Amino acid sequence: MRFCLKNGDAMEFKELTVEELTLGYIQSPQEESCTCIFCGEVYEEGIVYRSRGRTVTAERAVKEHIFDRHGGVFHGLLDLDKQVNGLSEIQKDVLTGMYLEKDNKQICEEMGISAATVRSHKFNLQKSKREAKILLALLEQIENETIVKQRKKTEQEALSIEELLVKKDFSGNTLHPFFTQYNLK
Ligand SMILES: [Zn+2]
Repeated sequence: MRFCLKNGDAMEFKELTVEELTLGYIQSPQEESCTCIFCGEVYEEGIVYRSRGRTVTAERAVKEHIFDRHGGVFHGLLDLDKQVNGLSEIQKDVLTGMYLEKDNKQICEEMGISAATVRSHKFNLQKSKREAKILLALLEQIENETIVKQRKKTEQEALSIEELLVKKDFSGNTLHPFFTQYNLK
């Protein structure tokens, strides 16, 4: 299976987009199947699945599977190996508190740390989020073929226009009407 993460095979996980990570499953390009990113289970479109005692579509089935088998996308992602999600135990606890809509007071009491520490962890998580978004956008400029192609086209166009202007300048230096009529008499 491609996404057998619990077995330490995280090689394919890095290829997933933010949207797929957020959903917890991958839709194939022609939308003929949904694959759970946590265990690789495939749900084929057009097949009727039985989930929670009733018949459901592939997409519904994979959503319910993620919830029932992995505790939902949040826990699925949180429980990934530290090598994959990069989260410390404290960060996981703070995130879980936020996920369960607990306030800072509740979180700090349960974790046995000060409210200031909880606030600081929350601040750092938001800071990481902002930085991660910038890094994503930066890497898109390097890795996204469409963006790279578009950039090269724009650069090429700019160069062509510059060349054209330089040519005009040269012709102006030798035979500009202003100089011939007024200055060179
Ligand atoms: Zn699964």
